[in-house]
Amino acid sequence: MSFAQFPPMPDFPPGEVWLAGAGPGDPRLLTLLALHAVSQADDIVHDALVDPRVLDLKRADAQLIAAGKRGGKPSSHQQEINGLLVERARAGRRVLRLKGGDPFVFGRGWDEVVALAEAGLRYRIIPGVTSGLAATALAGIPATTRDTNHAIVLAAGHRADDDQSSADWEALARLGQPIVLYMPMTQLAGITAALIKGGLSADTPAALLQSATTEDERVVDSTLGRLVEDAHANAIASPAIVVIGAVAGLRKQMLTGLVGWR
Ligand code: SAH
Repeated sequence: MSFAQFPPMPDFPPGEVWLAGAGPGDPRLLTLLALHAVSQADDIVHDALVDPRVLDLKRADAQLIAAGKRGGKPSSHQQEINGLLVERARAGRRVLRLKGGDPFVFGRGWDEVVALAEAGLRYRIIPGVTSGLAATALAGIPATTRDTNHAIVLAAGHRADDDQSSADWEALARLGQPIVLYMPMTQLAGITAALIKGGLSADTPAALLQSATTEDERVVDSTLGRLVEDAHANAIASPAIVVIGAVAGLRKQMLTGLVGWR
């Protein structure tokens, strides 16, 4: 098979908005549709997690607009972002809204498509490789195996630190299924305490996965009980994924032959 035989890519008409996931960082993990979108767009409205190497693939005359939240701080308000997408599309631009990972996994993609629909615009959705699954796989942590788990929980760690939220974590602990935490750093102490209270052993295998597929990539093996300490000791910084569960302990079985992402 050659690329010439590949199914044709869709046209990107002026006035359309494409909402695409850029994957975890390394441009080679873009989907072919996302690559096509980046190469066609007039305006690329991207969030803080889109890797610069991905943005470098744009047309020379395409305009880059940074708009997104980082670490819970609204660097641009969602309504302003929605308004910007609508305004650019109405001005006849080919607008690419590009987000780290997948646009619908803790990415506010839903808020944006609803705004586009309400504005009567046409849009296309291009899924991306979500960081929680890419970071784990690349570290040698399988999302599922027949022996360990029949489900996996993708959870946002940055929720309010209140009674309701700790009750939710305790309930998740009782599922006994691995938990992949996005945005884990600010509430890590409260979350790990609640998971232990919910019945998970402090010895449950865990891993900290920082900046997967970038130069800053780091993997730290840990346990549920040691996560906070290990995060501090290793100065793990955002963006990072935390995996908690039996699957996190499996990576040591296959590390000998594992070739790095580079
Ligand atoms: N839509 C994104 C998630 C946005 S929430 C996705 O599907 O991946 C932001 C969180 O994503 C970060 O706090 C971090 O937990 C995670 N993240 C994004 N890129 C990452 C990377 N390269 N390595 C580790 N975690 C990453």
